[in-house]
Amino acid sequence: MLQPFLYNHHLNVIREQVDVLLYNVSHLVDADVKDAVRHNVADKLLGLFSSLSDEQASFINEIRYLNESEIGGFLERVENAVIPFPEIANQQVEKLFTRSKKVTLPFNHSRTLTYLGWNDIRSKRKYLIYPINGVLIGIEGTYRILNQRTTCYLCGRYGEVAHVTSEVYDKGEYHTIGHYICVDSNVCNEHIKETAPLEAFFMKVYNKQLNA
Ligand SMILES: [Zn+2]
Repeated sequence: MLQPFLYNHHLNVIREQVDVLLYNVSHLVDADVKDAVRHNVADKLLGLFSSLSDEQASFINEIRYLNESEIGGFLERVENAVIPFPEIANQQVEKLFTRSKKVTLPFNHSRTLTYLGWNDIRSKRKYLIYPINGVLIGIEGTYRILNQRTTCYLCGRYGEVAHVTSEVYDKGEYHTIGHYICVDSNVCNEHIKETAPLEAFFMKVYNKQLNA
């Protein structure tokens, strides 16, 4: 049986590309053009990975040959192939955020996540947890919800965002950085299609925490 090998951001890209495929298959008439779209989508998905086993590659490659009625089943198999976010206990969370008091996990959070994030309404702090090289890292910042919609730094979605300010340590100096980040981290997670901005943000803020 195929072991989970996909991450949440892969799932988001696959869902997006499946939508592209379904839209084109139902709107296009020319069979050759439809095939071109299929191959384009399949190549795009295979291009997400720097290395895949033969089994994993043929699994992704299925999309090249599916008809419309088979796509739902394919998406279900994709969801089952996503590596779940690590289980975390409240005691672990306290260790990740030693400078804040009584940080507790949100109830019933999904395990299909790129990062776990939530807002503490009382302290106006946003907490984020993300595994880097298998180690869970926690970072935090203060947030202020904006009245206007704009683009989230982490997922690129245009919507309701908060301005999140975090302390960083860079080039021998302490300063603060601010980013617009989705107010709702679950929504953010459904739109993340690459992890580079998230990782850059974590490394900057975590670097400060190491040097504090
Ligand atoms: Zn976002």
